[in-house]
Order: sequence, then structure tokens, then C-alpha cells
Amino acid sequence: MTQFLNFHTHNFPSTPQEKSIYNLLIQDFRRFGEVENNWLSAGIHPWYAHPEDWQSQLTAVAQVAGHKNVLAIGECGLDRGILLPLETQLKIFAAQVKLAEQLQKPVIIHCVRAFNELLQWKKQVKPSVPLIVHGFNNKPEIMQQLLAHGFYFSLGVALLNPESNALKVLKTIPLTRLFLENDDRNTPIEKIYEAAAVQLEIPISALKNQIWTNFATVFNQ
Ligand SMILES: [Zn+2]
Repeated sequence: MTQFLNFHTHNFPSTPQEKSIYNLLIQDFRRFGEVENNWLSAGIHPWYAHPEDWQSQLTAVAQVAGHKNVLAIGECGLDRGILLPLETQLKIFAAQVKLAEQLQKPVIIHCVRAFNELLQWKKQVKPSVPLIVHGFNNKPEIMQQLLAHGFYFSLGVALLNPESNALKVLKTIPLTRLFLENDDRNTPIEKIYEAAAVQLEIPISALKNQIWTNFATVFNQ
């Protein structure tokens, strides 16, 4: 049976039913040797960015980023809900995307209430690597803007909530731009695929195949 692609997870190891991209947070880099046989994303999450010492955090990311199993840079991004000023966050984020550009690897983006800033940055910098907004659970207007600027979307546990924005926008996201994830939750990835398949009115097997096709597009595999 085809495995489920879990696009973004903090759970390790994964279950046999899934193939996951395990997100290695900057403070967990000492575990790199333990996890390097798995697909990974590595980066500086804005919550754990050091306001004065982020350059050395960036050096640490650069040291692992070239590894063949580090498929993507991230999660990194912008979060209006934390104390670190957005201006500083933007600098740290932009530096990571620059690294991703050098390596030609996609970027997994964490964005909380900073989509205007994200879009503004995208228009100015015009990065060439695929950008995936993970944990997307926002209004249709934001989705449309991101879509128009070429972003991909990874949706997660919000799909299990019938009132969520994620579930409402799901049908209007082109299937070619979609990924699914369980992030830092214990929810099995199967449950998220099930909820998405019901809403999309397609079989789970078709959804799996589509997402693997998207994976091949984004990661050139
Ligand atoms: Zn995450």
C-alpha cells in the first residue's frame, strides 16, 4: 500500500504507514546523527530565534542544510504573536531563504498573522525555490493571495474541525498545491487524509497519489 506523505511533523520516528519529513528544530541539532537517515527539514523557527546570536544559529543550519536528507529549509518564518520584532524575524527568515536558494531546496514556512509582510517580502525578493506555508488555517482571501504568488499549502489537524478555515478553503486550493501534515500533534496522519478526502470527495488513494506527485514536483524527485 502506498504510504501517506506526512509533509511536516515533529514526531519521531514515524509509523510504517507514513513517510514523513521530520522537522529538526535548531535546539535539537545535536540529535542530527540520530535522525539523519530520515527525510528532514532544518531551520530556525521564529520562536527559537536568538535576537543577538541568530548568525551562529544560521551557521549551524548551513552546516546541516547540504545533507541529502535535509529536503527543505524550515520551518522558519514570521509570527506576530511573539516578542521578537517582526523586522528582526524577517531578517532571520530572509537569510534562511537565501541559503535555500543557494542549495535550491524548498522552504517550509511558519506564518502567524504576518501574511501581509510575507507577501510583501515575496514580491520584493522573488525567490525561485518552492515556498510551502505549513499549518495553513486562514481565510479564503489570504489563500487566494498566496496562491497567486505561487505558494504551496500544507494543511493539518484543523481539517478535523468542521468550523475551521482550513476545511472551508480546502476545496478551492488546487490539488497540485496541496500537502498534509500532523505537525506537533499526535493525530495519526491517516485521520487527516481521511478528513481531506471526505471534503474533497475523492478516494484516499487518489489523494495520496496526488500528494506524491506534488512531492515530486516540489523536490524534483
Ligand atoms: Zn511545526
